[in-house]
Amino acid sequence: MIRNNYPSDFEAKKLICEIGRRVYNKNFVAANDGNISVKVGPNTIWTTPTGVSKGFMTPDMLVKMDLSGKVLSGKMKPSSEVKMHLRVYSENPEVNAVVHAHPPVATSFAIAGISLDQPVSPEAVVILGTVPVAPYATPGTQEVPDSIAPYCRDYNAVLLANHGALTWGRDIIEAYYRMESLEHYALMLMYSNNIINKVNELNCTQISDLIDIRQKMGIKTGGIPVCETNVQIQQKVDQDKNKEDLIQKIVQKVTEDVLKKMMN
Ligand SMILES: [Zn+2]
Repeated sequence: MIRNNYPSDFEAKKLICEIGRRVYNKNFVAANDGNISVKVGPNTIWTTPTGVSKGFMTPDMLVKMDLSGKVLSGKMKPSSEVKMHLRVYSENPEVNAVVHAHPPVATSFAIAGISLDQPVSPEAVVILGTVPVAPYATPGTQEVPDSIAPYCRDYNAVLLANHGALTWGRDIIEAYYRMESLEHYALMLMYSNNIINKVNELNCTQISDLIDIRQKMGIKTGGIPVCETNVQIQQKVDQDKNKEDLIQKIVQKVTEDVLKKMMN
């Protein structure tokens, strides 16, 4: 269902400045990196300007645009990365806000080309879901929106190879919390896989229960992490099939040999 309770212009600008400060203070961006946008109507958004730190924005710096990319009001220019935001809105009409940042741990996974999909924490499965890696594209070009387009309908976030992360949600708080969850999840994966060197993954039953909870919360997106049991079942199926094939081959060979002997 598409929510139509858009914030007012005043509220949207206030929220963007607030989230900008949080993104900057949490070290999810450096200098002027990152961008945020919020829908205020079916075809209009407010977004962050280019060349300004997200930690020091005031409402008068923000830019109003339509979804085709035309600037409607604002004295500054929008970020060239707003193309990514516009693409998310056009691919998925249920999205009302988008956050882009370069959180250091998640971005390191993006640099390594490793998606965030190991089932280790219930919150990551329910709130965020799995996070695939979109192929590298030069920032500011049309390749960037093209690279994320395949993920906008099924997931809540995507890593941008050698670049950063993009999250979206039904409102700006949900989109921002997903960025927090994404960096937190990446940090836990790094600690457990590379510092503590031991990971007890959630099993298939536990994951299936979490997916039920997620659906009851009205979240239909997020992907499903691969669970060990599934992999083991698949491996057993493959092994059994190989065994069957082998037995069949032996039976065939023996039959042929017996037949040959009888003929002689
Ligand atoms: Zn960026």
